[in-house]
Amino acid sequence: MTETAPSPAAPGTGVPLLEARGLTKHFAVHHAQRRGRARLARARGRRADPPVVHAVEDVSLSLPESGITAVVGESGSGKSTLARMLARLITPTAGELLLDGSPVPAQSRGRREYARDVQLVLQDPFSSLNPVHDVRYHLARPLRIHGLGGQGADLEAAMTGLLERVSLTPAEQFLRKYPHELSGGQRQRVAIARALAVRPRVLLADEPVSMLDVSIRLGVLNLLGDLRERDRLGILYITHDIASARYLADVIMVMYAGQVVESGPAVTLTDEPAHPYTRLLLSAAPDPDRPAPLSLQGRGSPPSLVDPPSGCRFHPRCPHAMAICAEATPPGSEVADRHVSACWLHVSGLTAAQRQASGAATGPSRAAARPNGLDTPHPGDGPGLPPSPATGGEES
Ligand code: SF4
Repeated sequence: MTETAPSPAAPGTGVPLLEARGLTKHFAVHHAQRRGRARLARARGRRADPPVVHAVEDVSLSLPESGITAVVGESGSGKSTLARMLARLITPTAGELLLDGSPVPAQSRGRREYARDVQLVLQDPFSSLNPVHDVRYHLARPLRIHGLGGQGADLEAAMTGLLERVSLTPAEQFLRKYPHELSGGQRQRVAIARALAVRPRVLLADEPVSMLDVSIRLGVLNLLGDLRERDRLGILYITHDIASARYLADVIMVMYAGQVVESGPAVTLTDEPAHPYTRLLLSAAPDPDRPAPLSLQGRGSPPSLVDPPSGCRFHPRCPHAMAICAEATPPGSEVADRHVSACWLHVSGLTAAQRQASGAATGPSRAAARPNGLDTPHPGDGPGLPPSPATGGEES
């Protein structure tokens, strides 16, 4: 099992609502690719192990009541796979889930009860609602399935109450609308209202604002903040936008290539990032409130997760890579109170040979050092991640 930064301590005390310990997910590679790799291995006189995609490796986290934890990383870092494991939509290869401190069975048993407590809001509000049904159908269905809301006038009152909680008023009008009659922000609010219908205690929000116009992101983020305050929900906020994570979350976990590389209180982690990858993410998200500008620039692209780089998975892109970085996985080191970074830079006692610069991230041969050999844009190359939602406004 790969060692990563341990999960941050939950704000507050007591047992977390939802806890994940060492969650790992490996996906089998498609048959055609598998046959190709087997042929290649035979040609080289070697026996091929069945290839797998190492999507998530040994991730632990805890979601406390009335707390927001953000998981930040670029596309392919394993964020959404992690959310789906937490929602029990896919079965982990290893690791366990605990709800209120009690282990959740790995089998499908108890899935409906679990779904009442833990709800998932998906990224795309355009496809997460059925276009042939109106809002009334989307809200009534979970209420009926879970025996909530009653019938007739009671059901109607439950549905209008849900829409008012997500600030879609007058609710009676919205109940009659179809998804194509709603804006992106309104659709996402309906999706959140549908998740709230079963009175969950944990909300897993998988990039809930990334497909919305910048101008309406702030409204949906503020809605999540209100749900934390009013309903004491434990929220997992998944995003590639570290600026919105700082705005909304108490704790940030940074994922790279399926592993947690840094975690800590949101303000500390973004003001004083320790891991080079976090610094790279922040350098791509300008923030006028940041005390000092970050000068680190990096290039490259995410690695193949079928053959992830040895040692630190970031080493082919890291401007600080040392000899040891390609040889061994860095342990999590506490760099400040509850602030953990998985980087050899923060481990003391290395020999001079281990500290020797590897040159992995410098020079013209660096593209060849990357497993896929590509030089596609990434947050450090381009114009940057979307601006902070704090600059946006509310949808109409
Ligand atoms: Fe990884 Fe080494 Fe760079 Fe730290 S210094 S991020 S361990 S490659």
